[in-house]
Amino acid sequence: MIEKILISNRGEIALRVIRTCNALGIKTVAVYSDEDYNSLHVKQADEAYYIGKAAPKESYLNQEKIMEAIVASGADAVHPGYGFLSENSDFAKLCEDNKINFIGPSAASMDLCGDKMLCKAAMFKAKVPTVPGSPGIVNGVEEALDTANQIGYPVLLKSVYGGGGRGIRLVNNDNELQQAFETVTGESIAAFGKSAIIVEKFLEKTRHIEYQMARDKHGNTVHIFERECSIQRRNQKLIEQTPSPAVDQKTRDRIGELVIRAAEAVDYTNLGTAEFLRADNGEFYFIEINARLQVEHPITELVSGLDLVKLQIDIANGQPLPFKQKDLKMNGYAIECRINAEDTFLDFAPSTGPIPDVTIPSGPGVRCDTYLYPGCTVSPFYDSLMAKLCTWGQTFEESRLRMLTALDDFYIRGVENSIPLYKTILNTEEYKKGQLSTDFLKRFGIIDRLTQDIKNERILKGEVAVAAALMYSEYYKSKAKPSTGPNPRWKSHMDRR
Ligand code: ADP
Ligand code: ADP
Ligand code: MG
Repeated sequence: MIEKILISNRGEIALRVIRTCNALGIKTVAVYSDEDYNSLHVKQADEAYYIGKAAPKESYLNQEKIMEAIVASGADAVHPGYGFLSENSDFAKLCEDNKINFIGPSAASMDLCGDKMLCKAAMFKAKVPTVPGSPGIVNGVEEALDTANQIGYPVLLKSVYGGGGRGIRLVNNDNELQQAFETVTGESIAAFGKSAIIVEKFLEKTRHIEYQMARDKHGNTVHIFERECSIQRRNQKLIEQTPSPAVDQKTRDRIGELVIRAAEAVDYTNLGTAEFLRADNGEFYFIEINARLQVEHPITELVSGLDLVKLQIDIANGQPLPFKQKDLKMNGYAIECRINAEDTFLDFAPSTGPIPDVTIPSGPGVRCDTYLYPGCTVSPFYDSLMAKLCTWGQTFEESRLRMLTALDDFYIRGVENSIPLYKTILNTEEYKKGQLSTDFLKRFGIIDRLTQDIKNERILKGEVAVAAALMYSEYYKSKAKPSTGPNPRWKSHMDRR
Protein backbone atom coordinates (compact mmCIF):
# COMPACT_ATOMS: atom_id res chain seq x y z
CA MET A 1 0.00 0.00 0.00
CA ILE A 2 1.18 3.49 -0.88
CA GLU A 3 2.53 5.37 2.15
CA LYS A 4 4.46 8.29 0.68
CA ILE A 5 3.81 10.07 -2.62
CA LEU A 6 6.20 12.35 -4.47
CA ILE A 7 4.34 14.84 -6.60
CA SER A 8 6.36 15.58 -9.74
CA ASN A 9 4.53 18.81 -10.46
CA ARG A 10 3.88 22.31 -9.13
CA GLY A 11 1.11 24.89 -8.85
CA GLU A 12 -2.52 24.18 -8.08
CA ILE A 13 -2.40 20.52 -9.11
CA ALA A 14 0.44 19.73 -6.67
CA LEU A 15 -1.68 21.31 -3.91
CA ARG A 16 -4.75 19.37 -5.07
CA VAL A 17 -2.89 16.04 -4.69
CA ILE A 18 -1.41 17.04 -1.31
CA ARG A 19 -4.92 17.71 0.06
CA THR A 20 -6.18 14.22 -0.70
CA CYS A 21 -2.97 12.66 0.65
CA ASN A 22 -3.41 14.57 3.91
CA ALA A 23 -6.98 13.36 4.19
CA LEU A 24 -5.82 9.76 3.64
CA GLY A 25 -2.83 9.97 6.00
CA ILE A 26 -0.33 9.53 3.14
CA LYS A 27 2.98 11.44 3.46
CA THR A 28 3.78 13.92 0.67
CA VAL A 29 7.00 15.01 -1.02
CA ALA A 30 7.22 18.17 -3.12
CA VAL A 31 9.86 19.01 -5.69
CA TYR A 32 10.77 22.55 -6.67
CA SER A 33 12.87 24.63 -9.05
CA ASP A 34 14.70 27.90 -8.40
CA GLU A 35 11.50 29.67 -9.32
CA ASP A 36 9.42 27.88 -6.67
CA TYR A 37 11.29 28.41 -3.36
CA ASN A 38 8.31 30.34 -2.05
CA SER A 39 5.53 28.39 -3.71
CA LEU A 40 2.66 27.05 -1.69
CA HIS A 41 3.11 23.39 -2.70
CA VAL A 42 6.60 23.48 -1.19
CA LYS A 43 5.29 24.90 2.08
CA GLN A 44 2.38 22.43 2.27
CA ALA A 45 4.16 19.14 1.59
CA ASP A 46 5.75 17.09 4.39
CA GLU A 47 9.12 17.23 2.62
CA ALA A 48 10.53 19.19 -0.31
CA TYR A 49 13.47 18.54 -2.64
CA TYR A 50 15.23 21.00 -4.92
CA ILE A 51 15.48 19.71 -8.49
CA GLY A 52 17.11 22.46 -10.55
CA LYS A 53 16.80 25.65 -12.51
CA ALA A 54 13.56 27.36 -13.53
CA ALA A 55 13.39 26.04 -17.11
CA PRO A 56 11.17 22.91 -17.10
CA LYS A 57 13.87 20.89 -18.89
CA GLU A 58 16.20 21.47 -15.93
CA SER A 59 13.66 20.67 -13.22
CA TYR A 60 10.07 19.45 -13.65
CA LEU A 61 11.00 17.54 -16.81
CA ASN A 62 14.32 16.34 -15.40
CA GLN A 63 13.69 12.63 -14.83
CA GLU A 64 17.08 11.97 -13.29
CA LYS A 65 16.70 14.71 -10.66
CA ILE A 66 13.17 13.63 -9.84
CA MET A 67 14.25 10.00 -9.47
CA GLU A 68 17.02 11.17 -7.10
CA ALA A 69 14.39 12.94 -4.99
CA ILE A 70 12.22 9.81 -4.99
CA VAL A 71 15.11 7.69 -3.73
CA ALA A 72 16.29 10.28 -1.17
CA SER A 73 12.78 10.73 0.26
CA GLY A 74 11.89 7.05 0.24
CA ALA A 75 8.62 7.77 -1.58
CA ASP A 76 6.94 4.60 -2.84
CA ALA A 77 4.75 6.29 -5.43
CA VAL A 78 4.69 9.24 -7.85
CA HIS A 79 1.75 11.40 -8.78
CA PRO A 80 2.59 13.27 -12.01
CA GLY A 81 -0.36 15.73 -12.10
CA TYR A 82 -1.01 17.01 -15.63
CA GLY A 83 1.46 18.44 -18.15
CA PHE A 84 5.21 17.96 -17.48
CA LEU A 85 5.99 14.22 -17.18
CA SER A 86 2.41 13.05 -16.74
CA GLU A 87 2.16 11.56 -20.22
CA ASN A 88 5.82 10.67 -20.68
CA SER A 89 6.02 6.90 -21.05
CA ASP A 90 9.81 6.89 -20.53
CA PHE A 91 9.23 8.29 -17.06
CA ALA A 92 6.43 5.81 -16.35
CA LYS A 93 8.83 3.06 -17.47
CA LEU A 94 11.63 4.45 -15.31
CA CYS A 95 9.27 4.27 -12.32
CA GLU A 96 8.14 0.75 -13.23
CA ASP A 97 11.80 -0.37 -13.50
CA ASN A 98 12.59 1.11 -10.09
CA LYS A 99 9.52 -0.47 -8.45
CA ILE A 100 7.98 2.95 -7.84
CA ASN A 101 4.19 3.00 -8.14
CA PHE A 102 3.41 5.45 -10.96
CA ILE A 103 -0.12 6.74 -10.37
CA GLY A 104 -1.43 6.49 -13.91
CA PRO A 105 -1.63 4.02 -16.79
CA SER A 106 1.15 1.57 -17.70
CA ALA A 107 3.98 2.82 -19.92
CA ALA A 108 2.75 0.56 -22.73
CA SER A 109 -0.80 1.91 -22.60
CA MET A 110 0.49 5.47 -22.36
CA ASP A 111 2.57 4.92 -25.50
CA LEU A 112 -0.59 3.96 -27.37
CA CYS A 113 -2.58 6.94 -26.07
CA GLY A 114 0.26 9.42 -26.60
CA ASP A 115 0.41 8.79 -30.33
CA LYS A 116 -2.73 10.20 -31.96
CA MET A 117 -2.27 7.87 -34.97
CA LEU A 118 -1.76 4.62 -33.06
CA CYS A 119 -4.64 5.54 -30.78
CA LYS A 120 -6.98 6.28 -33.70
CA ALA A 121 -5.98 2.95 -35.24
CA ALA A 122 -6.85 1.14 -32.00
CA MET A 123 -10.23 2.90 -31.93
CA PHE A 124 -10.90 1.97 -35.55
CA LYS A 125 -10.33 -1.66 -34.60
CA ALA A 126 -12.64 -1.33 -31.59
CA LYS A 127 -15.34 0.27 -33.79
CA VAL A 128 -15.20 3.62 -31.98
CA PRO A 129 -15.86 6.31 -34.64
CA THR A 130 -12.95 8.68 -35.29
CA VAL A 131 -12.71 11.88 -37.34
CA PRO A 132 -12.28 11.07 -41.06
CA GLY A 133 -8.70 11.58 -42.18
CA SER A 134 -5.49 10.01 -43.43
CA PRO A 135 -5.30 6.27 -42.68
CA GLY A 136 -1.82 6.81 -41.25
CA ILE A 137 1.02 9.27 -41.01
CA VAL A 138 1.47 11.26 -44.21
CA ASN A 139 4.97 10.99 -45.65
CA GLY A 140 5.73 14.47 -46.87
CA VAL A 141 3.76 17.36 -48.34
CA GLU A 142 2.73 15.53 -51.53
CA GLU A 143 0.90 12.80 -49.63
CA ALA A 144 -0.70 15.40 -47.35
CA LEU A 145 -1.97 17.29 -50.42
CA ASP A 146 -3.43 14.09 -51.90
CA THR A 147 -5.22 13.21 -48.67
CA ALA A 148 -6.52 16.74 -48.20
CA ASN A 149 -7.98 16.75 -51.69
CA GLN A 150 -9.57 13.35 -51.13
CA ILE A 151 -11.34 14.29 -47.88
CA GLY A 152 -11.91 17.90 -48.96
CA TYR A 153 -10.85 21.21 -47.35
CA PRO A 154 -10.83 22.55 -44.70
CA VAL A 155 -8.53 20.06 -42.99
CA LEU A 156 -6.34 20.03 -39.91
CA LEU A 157 -2.69 19.07 -39.89
CA LYS A 158 -1.95 17.45 -36.53
CA SER A 159 1.28 16.28 -35.04
CA VAL A 160 0.62 12.79 -33.65
CA TYR A 161 2.64 13.84 -30.59
CA GLY A 162 0.72 17.10 -30.07
CA GLY A 163 -0.87 18.18 -26.80
CA GLY A 164 -2.14 21.27 -25.05
CA GLY A 165 -3.30 22.71 -28.38
CA ARG A 166 0.20 22.66 -29.87
CA GLY A 167 1.05 21.10 -33.23
CA ILE A 168 -2.34 21.73 -34.86
CA ARG A 169 -3.01 23.92 -37.94
CA LEU A 170 -6.17 24.62 -39.90
CA VAL A 171 -5.69 24.78 -43.67
CA ASN A 172 -8.16 25.81 -46.36
CA ASN A 173 -6.30 25.11 -49.59
CA ASP A 174 -3.21 23.58 -51.20
CA ASN A 175 -1.15 26.75 -50.72
CA GLU A 176 -1.89 27.01 -47.03
CA LEU A 177 -1.19 23.33 -46.57
CA GLN A 178 2.34 23.59 -47.94
CA GLN A 179 3.19 26.36 -45.49
CA ALA A 180 1.43 24.75 -42.55
CA PHE A 181 3.23 21.45 -43.07
CA GLU A 182 6.52 23.22 -42.31
CA THR A 183 5.06 25.09 -39.33
CA VAL A 184 3.55 22.01 -37.68
CA THR A 185 6.75 20.03 -38.24
CA GLY A 186 8.78 22.82 -36.62
CA GLU A 187 6.39 23.30 -33.73
CA SER A 188 6.22 19.58 -33.03
CA ILE A 189 10.01 19.18 -33.05
CA ALA A 190 10.38 22.23 -30.79
CA ALA A 191 7.77 21.00 -28.28
CA PHE A 192 8.05 17.22 -28.45
CA GLY A 193 11.45 16.60 -30.07
CA LYS A 194 9.96 14.75 -33.04
CA SER A 195 7.30 15.11 -35.70
CA ALA A 196 4.86 12.91 -37.61
CA ILE A 197 1.77 14.40 -39.17
CA ILE A 198 -1.78 13.21 -39.81
CA VAL A 199 -4.47 14.94 -41.84
CA GLU A 200 -7.98 15.23 -40.39
CA LYS A 201 -11.23 16.60 -41.72
CA PHE A 202 -11.89 19.91 -39.95
CA LEU A 203 -15.33 19.68 -38.39
CA GLU A 204 -17.16 23.01 -38.28
CA LYS A 205 -19.37 24.26 -35.46
CA THR A 206 -18.30 21.37 -33.26
CA ARG A 207 -18.54 20.84 -29.55
CA HIS A 208 -15.71 19.38 -27.52
CA ILE A 209 -17.30 16.75 -25.28
CA GLU A 210 -15.15 14.42 -23.23
CA TYR A 211 -15.76 11.56 -20.84
CA GLN A 212 -14.05 10.81 -17.55
CA MET A 213 -13.11 7.15 -17.54
CA ALA A 214 -11.83 4.90 -14.78
CA ARG A 215 -10.47 1.37 -15.10
CA ASP A 216 -8.96 -0.77 -12.35
CA LYS A 217 -6.21 -3.38 -12.66
CA HIS A 218 -8.84 -6.14 -12.75
CA GLY A 219 -10.45 -4.86 -15.93
CA ASN A 220 -13.52 -3.21 -14.37
CA THR A 221 -14.36 -0.08 -16.33
CA VAL A 222 -16.78 2.80 -15.82
CA HIS A 223 -17.29 6.26 -17.20
CA ILE A 224 -18.00 9.12 -14.83
CA PHE A 225 -20.10 11.17 -17.24
CA GLU A 226 -19.19 13.86 -19.72
CA ARG A 227 -17.76 17.36 -19.56
CA GLU A 228 -18.35 19.93 -22.28
CA CYS A 229 -15.23 22.02 -22.97
CA SER A 230 -16.27 23.93 -26.07
CA ILE A 231 -15.31 27.42 -24.92
CA GLN A 232 -11.71 27.57 -26.08
CA ARG A 233 -9.00 29.84 -27.38
CA ARG A 234 -6.26 28.51 -29.64
CA ASN A 235 -7.65 24.96 -29.27
CA GLN A 236 -7.21 25.23 -25.48
CA LYS A 237 -10.05 25.06 -23.02
CA LEU A 238 -11.21 28.11 -21.04
CA ILE A 239 -14.60 27.16 -19.58
CA GLU A 240 -15.97 23.67 -18.93
CA GLN A 241 -19.30 22.43 -17.69
CA THR A 242 -21.09 19.24 -16.80
CA PRO A 243 -23.60 17.96 -17.77
CA SER A 244 -23.30 19.09 -21.38
CA PRO A 245 -26.45 20.82 -22.68
CA ALA A 246 -26.03 18.68 -25.83
CA VAL A 247 -26.10 15.31 -24.02
CA ASP A 248 -29.29 13.67 -22.80
CA GLN A 249 -29.35 10.47 -20.75
CA LYS A 250 -29.74 8.27 -23.83
CA THR A 251 -26.74 9.86 -25.53
CA ARG A 252 -24.77 9.74 -22.27
CA ASP A 253 -25.29 5.99 -22.06
CA ARG A 254 -24.66 5.39 -25.76
CA ILE A 255 -21.35 7.33 -25.89
CA GLY A 256 -20.50 5.99 -22.44
CA GLU A 257 -20.43 2.49 -23.90
CA LEU A 258 -18.02 3.63 -26.61
CA VAL A 259 -15.83 5.12 -23.87
CA ILE A 260 -15.65 1.81 -22.05
CA ARG A 261 -14.73 0.11 -25.31
CA ALA A 262 -12.07 2.79 -25.91
CA ALA A 263 -10.50 2.20 -22.47
CA GLU A 264 -10.42 -1.55 -23.09
CA ALA A 265 -8.95 -1.08 -26.59
CA VAL A 266 -5.77 0.47 -25.18
CA ASP A 267 -5.76 -1.66 -21.99
CA TYR A 268 -6.05 1.53 -19.95
CA THR A 269 -5.66 1.54 -16.19
CA ASN A 270 -6.38 4.32 -13.70
CA LEU A 271 -8.19 7.57 -14.57
CA GLY A 272 -8.15 9.01 -18.07
CA THR A 273 -10.23 11.10 -20.40
CA ALA A 274 -11.66 10.15 -23.77
CA GLU A 275 -12.12 13.27 -25.89
CA PHE A 276 -14.75 13.52 -28.63
CA LEU A 277 -15.93 16.12 -31.06
CA ARG A 278 -19.67 16.36 -31.56
CA ALA A 279 -20.47 17.50 -35.08
CA ASP A 280 -23.36 19.84 -35.76
CA ASN A 281 -25.44 16.87 -36.97
CA GLY A 282 -25.11 15.19 -33.55
CA GLU A 283 -22.50 12.58 -34.53
CA PHE A 284 -19.68 11.93 -32.04
CA TYR A 285 -16.10 11.38 -33.20
CA PHE A 286 -13.29 10.21 -30.93
CA ILE A 287 -10.19 12.49 -31.04
CA GLU A 288 -7.81 11.36 -28.32
CA ILE A 289 -7.24 9.93 -24.85
CA ASN A 290 -5.58 12.08 -22.21
CA ALA A 291 -3.71 9.55 -20.08
CA ARG A 292 -3.74 11.46 -16.80
CA LEU A 293 -5.80 13.47 -14.36
CA GLN A 294 -7.49 16.23 -16.32
CA VAL A 295 -7.26 19.93 -15.46
CA GLU A 296 -11.06 20.14 -15.31
CA HIS A 297 -11.58 17.05 -13.10
CA PRO A 298 -13.12 19.13 -10.23
CA ILE A 299 -16.42 19.62 -12.07
CA THR A 300 -16.79 15.85 -12.31
CA GLU A 301 -16.06 15.65 -8.57
CA LEU A 302 -18.77 18.22 -7.91
CA VAL A 303 -21.51 16.29 -9.74
CA SER A 304 -20.37 12.77 -8.78
CA GLY A 305 -19.42 13.36 -5.14
CA LEU A 306 -16.17 11.43 -5.71
CA ASP A 307 -12.59 12.35 -4.84
CA LEU A 308 -10.89 11.47 -8.12
CA VAL A 309 -7.35 11.68 -6.71
CA LYS A 310 -8.35 9.18 -4.01
CA LEU A 311 -9.77 6.96 -6.73
CA GLN A 312 -6.45 7.18 -8.61
CA ILE A 313 -4.53 6.15 -5.49
CA ASP A 314 -6.92 3.28 -4.76
CA ILE A 315 -6.57 1.97 -8.31
CA ALA A 316 -2.77 2.30 -8.13
CA ASN A 317 -2.94 0.22 -4.94
CA GLY A 318 -4.60 -2.53 -6.94
CA GLN A 319 -8.01 -2.13 -5.37
CA PRO A 320 -11.08 -2.89 -7.46
CA LEU A 321 -13.43 -0.01 -8.32
CA PRO A 322 -15.77 0.46 -5.34
CA PHE A 323 -18.83 0.91 -7.60
CA LYS A 324 -20.47 -0.28 -10.79
CA GLN A 325 -21.69 1.92 -13.62
CA LYS A 326 -25.28 1.78 -12.39
CA ASP A 327 -24.22 3.08 -8.95
CA LEU A 328 -22.95 6.35 -10.41
CA LYS A 329 -25.48 9.17 -10.40
CA MET A 330 -25.06 12.70 -11.67
CA ASN A 331 -26.16 15.36 -9.22
CA GLY A 332 -26.60 19.01 -10.23
CA TYR A 333 -24.62 21.26 -12.55
CA ALA A 334 -21.00 22.38 -12.36
CA ILE A 335 -18.95 24.97 -14.25
CA GLU A 336 -15.21 25.64 -14.27
CA CYS A 337 -13.49 28.86 -15.36
CA ARG A 338 -9.74 28.63 -15.89
CA ILE A 339 -8.37 31.84 -14.42
CA ASN A 340 -5.29 32.46 -16.56
CA ALA A 341 -2.59 35.09 -16.16
CA GLU A 342 -2.93 36.52 -19.63
CA ASP A 343 -4.07 39.61 -21.50
CA THR A 344 -7.22 38.90 -23.46
CA PHE A 345 -6.56 41.99 -25.61
CA LEU A 346 -3.00 41.03 -26.51
CA ASP A 347 -4.11 37.78 -28.14
CA PHE A 348 -3.97 36.07 -24.73
CA ALA A 349 -0.28 36.82 -24.22
CA PRO A 350 1.00 35.70 -20.79
CA SER A 351 1.08 38.34 -18.06
CA THR A 352 3.46 37.53 -15.20
CA GLY A 353 4.90 39.05 -12.05
CA PRO A 354 4.29 39.49 -8.33
CA ILE A 355 0.79 39.29 -6.85
CA PRO A 356 0.77 41.75 -3.95
CA ASP A 357 -2.89 41.17 -3.21
CA VAL A 358 -5.47 38.51 -3.87
CA THR A 359 -8.92 37.59 -2.52
CA ILE A 360 -10.07 34.03 -3.14
CA PRO A 361 -13.83 33.63 -3.59
CA SER A 362 -15.86 31.18 -1.56
CA GLY A 363 -19.48 30.57 -0.58
CA PRO A 364 -22.17 27.96 -1.21
CA GLY A 365 -21.26 25.75 -4.15
CA VAL A 366 -17.96 27.55 -4.78
CA ARG A 367 -14.61 25.77 -5.06
CA CYS A 368 -11.35 27.42 -6.02
CA ASP A 369 -8.20 25.36 -6.68
CA THR A 370 -5.28 27.77 -6.76
CA TYR A 371 -1.66 28.35 -5.83
CA LEU A 372 -2.23 32.08 -5.29
CA TYR A 373 -1.61 33.82 -1.98
CA PRO A 374 -0.89 37.49 -1.27
CA GLY A 375 2.80 37.97 -1.98
CA CYS A 376 3.26 35.07 -4.40
CA THR A 377 4.59 35.38 -7.94
CA VAL A 378 3.24 34.24 -11.31
CA SER A 379 6.27 32.82 -13.09
CA PRO A 380 6.91 33.31 -16.81
CA PHE A 381 8.43 29.83 -16.98
CA TYR A 382 5.27 27.81 -16.47
CA ASP A 383 1.64 27.44 -17.43
CA SER A 384 -0.54 30.56 -17.25
CA LEU A 385 -3.22 28.77 -15.20
CA MET A 386 -3.44 30.54 -11.79
CA ALA A 387 -6.71 29.19 -10.49
CA LYS A 388 -9.61 26.94 -11.37
CA LEU A 389 -12.82 28.53 -10.19
CA CYS A 390 -15.67 26.01 -10.02
CA THR A 391 -19.27 26.37 -8.96
CA TRP A 392 -22.02 23.85 -8.33
CA GLY A 393 -25.76 24.40 -8.42
CA GLN A 394 -28.92 22.34 -8.34
CA THR A 395 -29.78 23.92 -11.68
CA PHE A 396 -27.56 25.26 -14.43
CA GLU A 397 -28.80 28.77 -13.73
CA GLU A 398 -27.87 28.51 -10.05
CA SER A 399 -24.39 27.34 -11.00
CA ARG A 400 -24.02 30.18 -13.54
CA LEU A 401 -25.14 32.88 -11.10
CA ARG A 402 -22.84 31.51 -8.39
CA MET A 403 -20.00 31.67 -10.93
CA LEU A 404 -20.76 35.32 -11.75
CA THR A 405 -20.86 36.15 -8.06
CA ALA A 406 -17.59 34.31 -7.44
CA LEU A 407 -15.94 36.06 -10.41
CA ASP A 408 -17.00 39.37 -8.85
CA ASP A 409 -15.50 38.34 -5.52
CA PHE A 410 -12.25 37.16 -7.09
CA TYR A 411 -9.75 39.94 -6.92
CA ILE A 412 -6.21 39.55 -8.26
CA ARG A 413 -3.78 42.45 -8.30
CA GLY A 414 -0.53 42.37 -10.28
CA VAL A 415 -1.30 40.56 -13.54
CA GLU A 416 -3.86 40.77 -16.32
CA ASN A 417 -6.28 37.87 -16.13
CA SER A 418 -9.26 36.29 -17.79
CA ILE A 419 -11.88 37.19 -15.16
CA PRO A 420 -13.40 40.08 -17.19
CA LEU A 421 -13.68 37.85 -20.27
CA TYR A 422 -15.58 35.20 -18.33
CA LYS A 423 -18.03 37.75 -16.95
CA THR A 424 -18.86 38.81 -20.50
CA ILE A 425 -19.20 35.21 -21.72
CA LEU A 426 -21.40 34.05 -18.84
CA ASN A 427 -23.72 37.00 -19.37
CA THR A 428 -24.37 36.31 -23.07
CA GLU A 429 -27.71 34.87 -24.17
CA GLU A 430 -25.78 32.39 -26.34
CA TYR A 431 -23.98 30.95 -23.32
CA LYS A 432 -27.15 30.86 -21.25
CA LYS A 433 -28.92 28.94 -24.02
CA GLY A 434 -26.05 26.48 -24.34
CA GLN A 435 -25.20 27.43 -27.93
CA LEU A 436 -21.66 26.22 -27.50
CA SER A 437 -19.01 25.46 -30.11
CA THR A 438 -15.24 25.49 -30.18
CA ASP A 439 -15.30 28.74 -32.18
CA PHE A 440 -17.63 30.41 -29.63
CA LEU A 441 -15.36 33.45 -29.10
CA LYS A 442 -15.11 34.23 -32.82
CA ARG A 443 -18.62 33.20 -33.75
CA PHE A 444 -20.27 35.53 -31.27
CA GLY A 445 -17.75 38.39 -31.40
CA ILE A 446 -16.95 37.98 -27.72
CA ILE A 447 -13.82 40.15 -27.63
CA ASP A 448 -15.74 43.11 -29.10
CA ARG A 449 -18.51 42.57 -26.59
CA LEU A 450 -15.95 42.51 -23.78
CA THR A 451 -14.54 45.81 -25.06
CA GLN A 452 -18.06 47.21 -25.03
CA ASP A 453 -18.68 45.94 -21.49
CA ILE A 454 -15.48 47.60 -20.30
CA LYS A 455 -16.38 50.87 -22.06
CA ASN A 456 -19.73 50.85 -20.35
CA GLU A 457 -17.91 50.18 -17.09
CA ARG A 458 -19.92 47.04 -16.72
CA ILE A 459 -16.64 45.21 -16.32
CA LEU A 460 -13.47 46.87 -15.14
CA LYS A 461 -10.04 46.09 -16.40
CA GLY A 462 -6.44 47.24 -16.13
CA GLU A 463 -5.95 50.66 -14.55
CA VAL A 464 -9.58 51.10 -13.60
CA ALA A 465 -9.75 47.70 -11.99
CA VAL A 466 -6.57 48.34 -10.05
CA ALA A 467 -7.88 51.68 -8.79
CA ALA A 468 -11.18 50.13 -7.75
CA ALA A 469 -9.41 47.18 -6.19
CA LEU A 470 -7.05 49.40 -4.22
CA MET A 471 -10.05 51.21 -2.85
CA TYR A 472 -11.55 47.86 -1.99
CA SER A 473 -8.50 46.63 -0.11
CA GLU A 474 -8.10 50.02 1.61
CA TYR A 475 -11.69 49.67 2.70
CA TYR A 476 -11.05 46.34 4.29
CA LYS A 477 -7.77 47.40 5.85
CA SER A 478 -8.99 50.65 7.35
CA LYS A 479 -10.07 50.49 10.95
CA ALA A 480 -12.75 53.12 10.41
CA LYS A 481 -16.33 51.98 10.61
CA PRO A 482 -17.90 51.58 7.21
CA SER A 483 -20.34 54.32 6.38
CA THR A 484 -23.94 53.50 5.70
CA GLY A 485 -24.88 53.37 2.04
CA PRO A 486 -23.16 51.74 -0.94
CA ASN A 487 -19.75 50.21 -0.33
CA PRO A 488 -16.72 51.26 -2.37
CA ARG A 489 -16.92 48.02 -4.27
CA TRP A 490 -16.12 47.60 -7.95
CA LYS A 491 -19.10 47.05 -10.21
CA SER A 492 -20.58 43.62 -9.87
CA HIS A 493 -22.78 41.68 -12.26
CA MET A 494 -25.69 42.50 -9.95
CA ASP A 495 -25.32 46.22 -10.77
CA ARG A 496 -25.66 45.43 -14.42
CA ARG A 497 -29.07 43.85 -14.37
P1 ADP B 1 -6.76 19.43 -20.66
O1 ADP B 1 -7.40 18.61 -21.73
O2 ADP B 1 -6.86 18.88 -19.30
O3 ADP B 1 -7.04 20.87 -20.76
P2 ADP B 1 -4.40 20.08 -22.00
O4 ADP B 1 -4.18 19.23 -23.19
O5 ADP B 1 -4.85 21.49 -22.17
O6 ADP B 1 -5.30 19.27 -21.02
O7 ADP B 1 -3.08 20.08 -21.12
C1 ADP B 1 -3.11 20.19 -19.73
C2 ADP B 1 -1.92 20.96 -19.29
O8 ADP B 1 -0.74 20.29 -19.62
C3 ADP B 1 -1.88 22.31 -19.95
O9 ADP B 1 -1.52 23.22 -18.98
C4 ADP B 1 -0.84 22.15 -21.04
O10 ADP B 1 -0.12 23.36 -21.21
C5 ADP B 1 0.04 21.07 -20.48
N1 ADP B 1 0.52 20.14 -21.49
C6 ADP B 1 -0.21 19.37 -22.30
N2 ADP B 1 0.55 18.61 -23.07
C7 ADP B 1 1.82 18.91 -22.75
C8 ADP B 1 3.10 18.43 -23.18
N3 ADP B 1 3.22 17.51 -24.11
N4 ADP B 1 4.19 18.95 -22.61
C9 ADP B 1 4.10 19.89 -21.66
N5 ADP B 1 2.92 20.36 -21.20
C10 ADP B 1 1.80 19.89 -21.74
P1 ADP C 1 -4.60 18.41 -28.02
O1 ADP C 1 -3.81 17.16 -27.89
O2 ADP C 1 -3.78 19.60 -28.29
O3 ADP C 1 -5.59 18.57 -26.90
P2 ADP C 1 -6.87 17.59 -29.68
O4 ADP C 1 -6.76 16.63 -30.81
O5 ADP C 1 -7.50 17.10 -28.43
O6 ADP C 1 -5.44 18.19 -29.38
O7 ADP C 1 -7.66 18.87 -30.19
C1 ADP C 1 -7.73 20.05 -29.44
C2 ADP C 1 -8.86 20.93 -29.95
O8 ADP C 1 -8.69 21.23 -31.33
C3 ADP C 1 -10.25 20.32 -29.86
O9 ADP C 1 -10.83 20.50 -28.59
C4 ADP C 1 -10.98 21.07 -30.95
O10 ADP C 1 -11.35 22.36 -30.52
C5 ADP C 1 -9.93 21.23 -32.02
N1 ADP C 1 -9.97 20.12 -32.98
C6 ADP C 1 -9.23 19.00 -32.96
N2 ADP C 1 -9.51 18.19 -34.00
C7 ADP C 1 -10.47 18.81 -34.72
C8 ADP C 1 -11.18 18.51 -35.92
N3 ADP C 1 -10.94 17.39 -36.61
N4 ADP C 1 -12.10 19.40 -36.37
C9 ADP C 1 -12.34 20.55 -35.69
N5 ADP C 1 -11.70 20.90 -34.58
C10 ADP C 1 -10.77 20.05 -34.07
MG1 MG D 1 -7.08 17.30 -26.35
